[in-house]
Amino acid sequence: MARIAFIGLGNMGGGMAANLVKAGHEVVAFDLVAEALARAEGRGAKRAASAEAAVEDAEAVITMLPAGSHVRDVYETSVIGKAPKAAILIDCSTIDVATAREEIGKAQAAGYAMVDAPVSGGIAAAEAGSLTFMAGGTDKAFARAAPLLETMGKAVIHAGGPGAGQAAKICNNMLLGASMVATCEAFVMAGKLGLDLQTFFDISSKASGQCWSMTSYCPVPGIGPETPADRDYEGGFAAALMLKDLRLAMEAAQSVDAYTPMGSAAEELYTRFSDLGGAGKDFSAIIQMIDDSWRAPEGAGSPPLPPGVKIGG
Ligand code: NAD
Repeated sequence: MARIAFIGLGNMGGGMAANLVKAGHEVVAFDLVAEALARAEGRGAKRAASAEAAVEDAEAVITMLPAGSHVRDVYETSVIGKAPKAAILIDCSTIDVATAREEIGKAQAAGYAMVDAPVSGGIAAAEAGSLTFMAGGTDKAFARAAPLLETMGKAVIHAGGPGAGQAAKICNNMLLGASMVATCEAFVMAGKLGLDLQTFFDISSKASGQCWSMTSYCPVPGIGPETPADRDYEGGFAAALMLKDLRLAMEAAQSVDAYTPMGSAAEELYTRFSDLGGAGKDFSAIIQMIDDSWRAPEGAGSPPLPPGVKIGG
């Protein structure tokens, strides 16, 4: 069993650290927010007074932070040069590819093995230990990280060299954002053309339009398996997080001169939905903006578009 420093015990990190404790590891936790730290302590982790203190004597360092700037700050201030050189460094946050590569490069130059290992799956999967990890790094670094990631997930895939985990994650989520919007458009248009929506689902889910957004995560309440649409779009994967990933995807597309018109349209639509107060709703709730039924929560964002005004027009 290993001594693991875990930094960032928010919605995702809290459950992930608890699963490491359950598997018998000694988890030393640090978070800037006292409540997050207290929750982790309540679930069997040891509390550290600072990130530097957490990584002292660690055999592995795992981070689950909001964005690239936090990852850069934590690794450059508190991990690289502070943790023992023998420790494997694993960043599970979703961040931009460039920062992931830069931080892995700095860690390697200082003598550490490090992987980027972002996750697919939300808070429930983090709690259940059923996340999917896509990892980037050398074969050697991956082989060292994989057993720990397996404790927190159901699938651990080596995506390639440094940054490849982040690249896989944003390409996947760009596809997901675009396919969700397209699925919503198809349902709304089917309804306007007089099709029964259940009948359209029965046909399209067995025809060439079939995709995960339709068959596993249908945005229409009462159709397909139970999804956030059946809970007034609460829980699930927040539109704000989808927008974060789409922005990372557009940044990456620009950096390599990739033509991504569908990704760019999805980013624009999720920006608009967030501005209209939808950021906290599940990302499939964007169907309500597309069919003009969205009404912003009191005091949130700008007012809904007047009926008949075209989205993006
Ligand atoms: P969160 O905001 O709930 O948790 C992040 C934690 O990091 C917070 O507790 C914060 O206090 C802590 N933190 C920030 N800066 C710190 C620092 N310098 N030192 C120590 N702690 C610090 O976020 P989350 O929902 O747990 O997401 C974490 C990451 O996982 C993000 O990159 C997100 O995009 C990704 N992700 C989230 C989900 C999801 O459903 N929530 C799904 C997949 C991936």
